[in-house]
Amino acid sequence: GNNIENYEFKAETKKLLQIVAHSLYTDKEVFVRELISNASDAIEKLRFTQNASSTNIESSVDDEKSVIPFFIKISTDSEKKLFIIEDSGIGMTKEELIENLGTIAKSGSQNFLKKIKEQNDIIGQFGVGFYSSFVVSDKVEVLTRSYEKDSIGYHWQSDGSGTFSLKTTDDIIRGTKIICHLKDNCTYYSDIQNVRKIAEKFAAFVNFPVYIADKKQPIWCKETVSEEEHKQFFNYLNKNKSYDADKKSYLYKIMYKTDAPMAIKSIFYIPEEAPSRLFEQNNDIEVALYCKKMLVKKNAQNIIPKWLHFIKGVIDCEDMPLNISRENMQDSLLMDKLSRILVTKILKMLEREAETNETKYLKFYKNYSYNIKEGILQDSNKEQYKNTILNLLRFYSINQGKYISLKEYVKNFKSNQKNIYYFSANNKDVALSSPYMEAFKNKNIDVLILLEEIDEFVLMNLQSYNDSKFVSIDSYNKENNKNNVHMFTTEQKKELEKYFKDVLGAKCSDVKFSERLVSSPAVVTGFLSPTLRKVMKATMSNID
Ligand code: ADP
Ligand code: MG
Repeated sequence: GNNIENYEFKAETKKLLQIVAHSLYTDKEVFVRELISNASDAIEKLRFTQNASSTNIESSVDDEKSVIPFFIKISTDSEKKLFIIEDSGIGMTKEELIENLGTIAKSGSQNFLKKIKEQNDIIGQFGVGFYSSFVVSDKVEVLTRSYEKDSIGYHWQSDGSGTFSLKTTDDIIRGTKIICHLKDNCTYYSDIQNVRKIAEKFAAFVNFPVYIADKKQPIWCKETVSEEEHKQFFNYLNKNKSYDADKKSYLYKIMYKTDAPMAIKSIFYIPEEAPSRLFEQNNDIEVALYCKKMLVKKNAQNIIPKWLHFIKGVIDCEDMPLNISRENMQDSLLMDKLSRILVTKILKMLEREAETNETKYLKFYKNYSYNIKEGILQDSNKEQYKNTILNLLRFYSINQGKYISLKEYVKNFKSNQKNIYYFSANNKDVALSSPYMEAFKNKNIDVLILLEEIDEFVLMNLQSYNDSKFVSIDSYNKENNKNNVHMFTTEQKKELEKYFKDVLGAKCSDVKFSERLVSSPAVVTGFLSPTLRKVMKATMSNID
């Protein structure tokens, strides 16, 4: 029958409800987490029960009902001020409803209460469970049907003030649906976009797909997207950032869709402004992985490499299983493949942009050159992207007075020039007035000035570009040291050499005569460049 039965909450529960509703005032959104985790628990219990009772599964599980897939679905109704969460989990029988939602945790409830009273911030850790829904709701309805054979549906309802009512209900599938009638000051949670943001934060820890019933088509599934929509979505991705996201925009955007070799829909943004290397310690990958609009992973670390952490966006890949695991070989091969496709796409876009709009690209480079160079170093094991990243590098050319590519440097080789010459310095003026530079200026051979400390490591790591070696102009180099200086006789050279060695002692390993200098009498050269010497020195003194 449809008779309504009324019950009173157990005394402790009443007290708890008041405390919870009061204490959680500042952190209301935890109810989303609690309801998602209950839904996930419910599915987990059903899965466990099904697995455990394999001998007896026909009798304990209704065949028709058991084919309902595992899902968690969240929807809203902003007009009716509703927040709704459904799961296809184990459901509850009448007895379970009364027992589980009418009483707080069976054991240790007193303890739990005491702890909450003593220390308010403990709530976040414990989780206040189902009752947190009353923090945001005037009324909560629970529709549920147990997985058990021949079970019937129940409709539970309460305003959280002390009583709840119970009646049977037809036409519901296995699982539980919770409808929160939101308080007037909590209608924030009846906007699906707000809910999506919160749910996705928590859904990352859940083993089952959380489907957000958003009537609006997600931007990455659309055929055409306006600039305004891009801006809005970019702002949405930046919402929880400390800076004023509304004022920031993106420099580049990429929308990439393909059906082969995998079905991918993706959207990426490169923000105009790079996160500060000094202040933003958090290098989380801010690209989320979806499968058919359902969030699989919030931070797609295995897909977007660390050095590209400044990229924001979404990847939706239909071939990705909903519960990917890192241990599964199949999954990680799939991730690798997806990663290779997308990273190549992003780098190729940058390469193209660098060619078509130099000014814009140099703006990008000014902000992200460090990341690009990190890319060379991080990629150096596999060298998957080496050739493309090489094309993205820019260095200051003394001949052109601006940043140029390696390709351009090589294009302007003097006849017979084989090497790419560079000089590492803290600033351009120091570099230009250095005695090492004289011979190069005189012969009009271009030199690239490396202004960042990482540069030298990058070039040492690369060693060469196509067939041209990277050569520091202050390092010993055969080409520059043909021992055919005519200024001195052999005796004079011997004498000078002895003099230097006597004065410098162990500090001097060799004395060479060279024509590389024009107006300076001598330079110190060696295996280590000034930057590396500086780094070594700093390291050594740290060891002391
Ligand atoms: P906890 O999850 O810590 O046990 P809650 O207050 O969150 O405490 O939930 C109380 C109980 O209600 C759960 O243990 C479970 O038995 C039941 N329950 C809550 N939500 C669901 C659901 N979606 N499906 C089935 N049972 C549920
Ligand atoms: Mg719970």
